[in-house]
Amino acid sequence: ARPGVVVVGGGFAGASCARALKQLDRDLAVTLIEPEAAYVACPFSNAVLAGLRDIEAQTFSYDQFDDIEFIRRRAVAVDAERRRVRLDDGEDIDYTRLVLAPGIELRFDALPGYDEAAAESMPHAWKAGSQTLMLRDQLAAMPDGGVVVLSAPANPFRCPPGPYERASLIAHYLKTSKPRSKLIILDAKDAFSKQRLFEAAWQELYPGLIEWVPLSSGGRVTEIDPATRTLVTEFGSHRADVANVIPPQRAGRIAQLAGVADQTGWCPIDPVTFESRLQPEIHVIGDAVIGGAMPKSAFTANAQAKACAAAVAALVRERQPAQPKLINTCYSLVAPGYGISIAGVYQPRDGLLAEVEGAGGTSPLEAPSSVRELEAAYAEDWFRTITREVFG
Ligand code: FAD
Repeated sequence: ARPGVVVVGGGFAGASCARALKQLDRDLAVTLIEPEAAYVACPFSNAVLAGLRDIEAQTFSYDQFDDIEFIRRRAVAVDAERRRVRLDDGEDIDYTRLVLAPGIELRFDALPGYDEAAAESMPHAWKAGSQTLMLRDQLAAMPDGGVVVLSAPANPFRCPPGPYERASLIAHYLKTSKPRSKLIILDAKDAFSKQRLFEAAWQELYPGLIEWVPLSSGGRVTEIDPATRTLVTEFGSHRADVANVIPPQRAGRIAQLAGVADQTGWCPIDPVTFESRLQPEIHVIGDAVIGGAMPKSAFTANAQAKACAAAVAALVRERQPAQPKLINTCYSLVAPGYGISIAGVYQPRDGLLAEVEGAGGTSPLEAPSSVRELEAAYAEDWFRTITREVFG
């Protein structure tokens, strides 16, 4: 029989991997399992919150996966011994190798008071879609002079610069539409991605508007009271007019069910093949993995997907997989026409994905506005290019 590779999850990681597998070996039977009719992308969803972009520009159908068998179902179990995946309609799908790319699960057990019901009044908006629109609409309905509180989790989490890009674009909205308002970031960390660039830009563009409260100043949120929209920290409590709670996360549920996540909640993998360290013939890619130095981003997910596809295509034909080199770039918009970035190159070292010294970096701290403008344009070009490549 033809070797069959089953990919679970049609996000940046899974959809990229399914496509790359088919391109590498036309004779492979490739199956993609994804329950949603369309994918709503997180990159640029912060611009939707600020009213700068429509959610339609974030939404991609799964119509363009012709040579891949697309099954619109949720995977609910994996039998690693028999090598089969159980779907939510009871059907079993056999595989030669399995790729799990389920993204993240929001931990509704980690922050007392913040459960799924609380997320209906204090949105996380950390999975794009209805949550994004809820937060956008709450911001639009807030009176001028209101207080927006954003709580950011400890590492690791999806999109390290994401909360700070979000804070920037919310600040842009407040500055232009509700200038007496304020934004407080309660952070469970003392440092964050591109921090110096963000802070310099905030001082320049939004003086006095954003207050960042780090861990050491009592920024870690310990409890939520959805009834009064209050966020409690070790040093006091904050009542919000609009609260955006980004809770701790772990690998998507199916990774836990398949036994490929460890006690951290994330999935240890071999950095050459992305094969699970806990279950043979199951590979994991994207946000769900312990990526070493690689951040959890769509760019990373796509790069890991291609490296994993190359390894899987070799392994099913009993060839030796090659050592990969992977690249990530994360752009953030601080305001319309003002972009900053961080880039890195990664390779397997000591069993993890390690950064290649001196190969990456961030935007310059001092730069003319033309540089920020160019980076904002690059960000848009990147999004257009990657979504075209992944979703067709
Ligand atoms: P996902 O994109 O979440 O895809 C997982 C897919 O798996 C989903 O479609 C889901 O429906 C499916 N799935 C889950 N469980 C199952 C199951 N049991 N059976 C079948 N299917 C299942 N990254 C960047 O590179 N640049 C950015 O500018 C950027 N901005 C961001 C801004 C925000 C506000 C956020 C929240 C994130 C941002 N990211 C950005 C990060 C990026 O969105 C993620 O890193 C990326 O989506 C990870 O891809 P993934 O495929 O691992 O997971």
